[in-house]
Parts: sequence; structure tokens; C-alpha cells
Amino acid sequence: MLKERSVRFFFLVLVITEFNLLYSIYRAFSLVISLFCTMVYGKIIHGDTMRSLYDFNYEQIQELALSKGWKTYRGHQIFQWLYRKRVQDMDEMSDLSKETREILKQEFIISPLTLKDCQISSDGTTKFLFALADGALIESVMMIFDYGNSVCVTTQVGCNMGCAFCASGLTKKQRNLTSGEIVAQIMYVQRYLDEKEQRLSHIVVMGTGEPFDNYEAMMNAMATVNHDRGLGIGARHITISTCGVVPRIYDFAKEHTQYNLAISLHAPNDALRDRLMPINHAYPLNELFAAIHTYSDENNRRLTFEYILLKGVNDTAECARQLAQLLKGLNAYVNLIPYNAVDEKGFQGVNHEQAMVFYDRLMKQGVRCTIRKEHGSDIDAACGQLRVKHLRREVKQ
Ligand code: SAH
Repeated sequence: MLKERSVRFFFLVLVITEFNLLYSIYRAFSLVISLFCTMVYGKIIHGDTMRSLYDFNYEQIQELALSKGWKTYRGHQIFQWLYRKRVQDMDEMSDLSKETREILKQEFIISPLTLKDCQISSDGTTKFLFALADGALIESVMMIFDYGNSVCVTTQVGCNMGCAFCASGLTKKQRNLTSGEIVAQIMYVQRYLDEKEQRLSHIVVMGTGEPFDNYEAMMNAMATVNHDRGLGIGARHITISTCGVVPRIYDFAKEHTQYNLAISLHAPNDALRDRLMPINHAYPLNELFAAIHTYSDENNRRLTFEYILLKGVNDTAECARQLAQLLKGLNAYVNLIPYNAVDEKGFQGVNHEQAMVFYDRLMKQGVRCTIRKEHGSDIDAACGQLRVKHLRREVKQ
């Protein structure tokens, strides 16, 4: 009887142990599966969880190397592979060990962009539409000038500034771009030019979005592409355009960079600027010009003022007079911009003769100015137009 009981007890213990063992195997197996899924899911479906190596400026990439327990020159090597050799695959970084490359591959991607569309104008202006890892669309424009090749980069997905004439604001800001997403646009265009054995020489931060509403990432991106161990685009060849985010103008003034600052003015009095540019409600002209004067006093740099000529709106003799008055005492010049009509906005541009009349008025009052040559007028070249067209197509489908 006792023996029978012990045998039963023995079998019970055996079954429980087996069960525990099986359960442990099952747990271990599901842990491996879930880890694998997280890695694959993170990599393929949510590429945004993987940081881009373009996110790191020269100093940050050295710090990254140190944090991995590598020597800082590894960081230097990676930077050179990214910006001098412009590789797109970490396996091409041939002087890094296989192990180092594997670690990089597990944690980072190189470019977070995928080309979705490209339009080439008869004057060579090329517009690129990119999808980001989260599916958001952004655009960059490459322009060819006699002094070099320039790219206009985007800093935000959509824009919240709400300028009355602009296509970018047709979709509200969804998010700021990361530094890497800004750098990646520049790198894409440089690689496009590499095929023609040409170099990108200028950057204008004038694409969709307000650069001073994404200040840190934008400045970090410029530091990366400006670095002489990387692309080495001269600071004087980089122009940052703002609609007038006053606190950031003060911050920018303190940085004492050689970047050019452009102010989108478009109206010489508060009543009109309130109508055209909602930012003017937050920072009216007196506050904007106080910041501009501070920048000008602290930096020995010429300022650019952008002024789109809108027919019957801001092209009058009185507007020219007020504009000349505002710019008195500043080392400035005005860029008169032909308006790229945006269907929904209901504004009209002026023709060349009308632009010349305004130009002459300014010149006579001592304001230096130029009429910007139109680029890519046969493609959707205005800020945000190609993107908006695509978004509309997606909505229709
Ligand atoms: N938010 C920044 C940079 C992006 S817009 C800024 O306001 O400066 C870059 C320039 O293009 C600005 O001067 C803007 O006013 C101008 N712009 C916007 N829409 C335009 C259009 N349809 N035609 C011509 N210029 C336009």
C-alpha cells in the first residue's frame, strides 16, 4: 500500500517537474520570439525607432564611439564614411571591424528617407518628394545657379505659421524633423550630384516649416554639414529663413555664426502683416525689428529681407516708402520674390514690369534689392506644392 503511494507520489513529482520544464522551455521560446518580433517590427515597420547616423554631428559621433567603448577615431572614421565617401550601407565602412559594423547595423540606419517622386524642370531645378520612416512626406528642391548648386531643405512636416499665401500651411505641423532627417535631404541631393561629378555648394533652409520653430535640430544639422571633416559646406553659403520668431532671433544672434539670416517680411506695416502672416500678432514689427537690430549690432553680417510681391496687396508706392523707412540704418538687402501662385490662396503675383516699378522705388530710396529669378516655374516649385499635390492624390484614392 505504502509502496503504491510512493510510486504515485513519484509520478506526480515527475509530471510536475516535466510540466515546469516544458513551461520554462515555452517561456524561453516565447521570449526569443517576442524579442525577434520587436527587432523586426522596429526595423521594418517602425523604422523611426532606429536612429539615423545622420542625427549625430562630428562631436556627437565621437561621443557615440566612446559610449560603445571604442576609440574616438572610430567616430571620426564613421563620419568620414558618411560624409566624404557618402556610403549608404554600413558594410561599405571597410576599415571598421565586422563586429563594429554589426553593432551599428543593429542600432542605426543611415538615411531615413525614401524617394517617392522627383520632378525635373527645364532649367534643371529638381524637386524631390521623400517619405520618412513614419510615412510622412517632405520635399527638397535643388536649384542650379551660376555660382553653384543649392538645396532648399524642409525642417518640419507641415507648418503652423499659417501665412496667407503659402502652400506649406495647407497642412498643419505634424512634427519637427530630426537633425538626421534634415541632413539626409542634403546628403540625398549631394549623392544625386555625385553621379554628375558635381558638388552641392549652398543650402537654403527655406522649405516647408519654420526653422526657428525647430531650432536645435536645425542648428545641429547645419553644424554637421558645415563641418570641414564632412561635407564642408561653408557657413557663408548657408542661409536660414524665418518668418520672425523673435526669441530665436535673439538666440541666433548670440551664436555668432557666419550663417546668413533671412527674414520673411512680405509687409511693411502691422495691419498688412497681421493679415498675411499670423506670427505678426505674436511678434509685431517693433519687436521683430528690435531683435533684428540686436542681431545686426552683434554680428557683422548683411541681412536679407524676403518680400513676395502680391498684386494690389503689398506692391504700392506707400508700401515701398514704408519698407525703405523700416530698413533705414540696417546692413540689409531686399529679395523681391515672384509669387508662385497657390490655387487655394487667391493671391496673384505681379509681372516683371510691375516688379521693376517696385524695385526702382526701393532703389531710389536707398534700399539695395534684387528681383529673385524664378526657378522651376514649370514644376510644382513653390514651398509645399508637390507634397500637397501628393497628399491630395492619397485622399482621393
Ligand atoms: N518659415 C520660413 C521658411 C519657409 S518659407 C519663412 O517664413 O521664412 C520660405 C520662403 O518662401 C518664405 O519667404 C515664404 O514666405 C516664401 N513663400 C512661401 N510660399 C510662397 C509662394 N507661393 N511663392 C513664393 N514664395 C513663397
